[in-house]
Amino acid sequence: MTHARVALFEAPDEKLTVVDVQVGPLAEDEIRIRVAGVGICHTDLTALRGGVPLPLPAVVGHEASGIVEEVGAEVTTLVPGDHVVVSFDSCRTCTQCTSGRPAYCELFAALNYFGTRLDGSTTMSRDGEPVHGNWFGQSSFGTHAVASVRNAVKVDESLPLQLLGPLGCSLQTGAGTVMRVLRAKPGQSIAVFGLGAVGLSALMAAKALGCTPIIAIDPNPERLNLATELGATHTLDPNAIDDIAWAVTDISANGVDFSVDAVGLESVVQQALAVLRSPGICATLGLQGLENDIVIDQGHLLLGRTLTGVIEGDVDPHQFIPQLVDLWKKGQFPFDKLIETYTLPEINEALAAAAAGSVIKPVIVFD
Ligand SMILES: [Zn+2]
Ligand SMILES: [Zn+2]
Repeated sequence: MTHARVALFEAPDEKLTVVDVQVGPLAEDEIRIRVAGVGICHTDLTALRGGVPLPLPAVVGHEASGIVEEVGAEVTTLVPGDHVVVSFDSCRTCTQCTSGRPAYCELFAALNYFGTRLDGSTTMSRDGEPVHGNWFGQSSFGTHAVASVRNAVKVDESLPLQLLGPLGCSLQTGAGTVMRVLRAKPGQSIAVFGLGAVGLSALMAAKALGCTPIIAIDPNPERLNLATELGATHTLDPNAIDDIAWAVTDISANGVDFSVDAVGLESVVQQALAVLRSPGICATLGLQGLENDIVIDQGHLLLGRTLTGVIEGDVDPHQFIPQLVDLWKKGQFPFDKLIETYTLPEINEALAAAAAGSVIKPVIVFD
């Protein structure tokens, strides 16, 4: 049993409170990490609004990096001292996991959203009462987190550990969608709607793959400037343009090969479909809640167009995070440009900045 200082989530729409909790003992397949950094992802904000049926009190946070402090009895692949990035959890044994698609693990919801281990126990407690952890198999808004050996990816100790956590969710979601789902090739065209961490990661991946043109669409002028710096060939402000589809075909005749919707609003999904050439693929990634009806034109889809949803970039983090690290080392995935750091006592400020969009990727860092 050890202690952790965490940002406790006690009620929807209330500020988190920084308190001490007890952690452990570890189950046989678990590890405890000392958190070096943890990103704030929009799915955390959705949970903090009460948009996910997570039992409370709980600790959220699911983009951690850190150093392994202790491992459970059956853990053989990690040892104390290892540097890790912690991604989403998956069972590693079901049909989807064994075919390389753990983002569609048959136990995904139970392992990532329910706030307990599969046996109903919790990884943390406070004054003898359960504190719900296991959020994305980690609950890492704190100094220490319990993860499983399945979702911790070992990384090289020479890397800037504090900044690596977002590779485990938002960055792999955007990049994985372009590299592993759309499988874009050099010279193919792409439009990216919504320039948060997910959209900008999709854009950086498209640039790394040699896509052109790369059209970035967002109402925020600072983000359009950053998109240009990161490789966008064209930028569009939807508030300044009546017809996005027309503007895109003006840049890329007949439309684009691929579009990525990193917003999730009906109007944006409709635009992301409207800009496609025939055939073409639109990937929708933005989460606006578990129920989000949209109307689309079947006549438009019939022309060989595809609309697909993607979770976590449909990647296996154990393979994909090392690839993103290699791209970063070559200067082709400069995700550090999206990050601003905060300390744990500043977490409510960091959450507000993420919600307002004034910071693309806040990361809480620890000494
Ligand atoms: Zn599985
Ligand atoms: Zn996330």
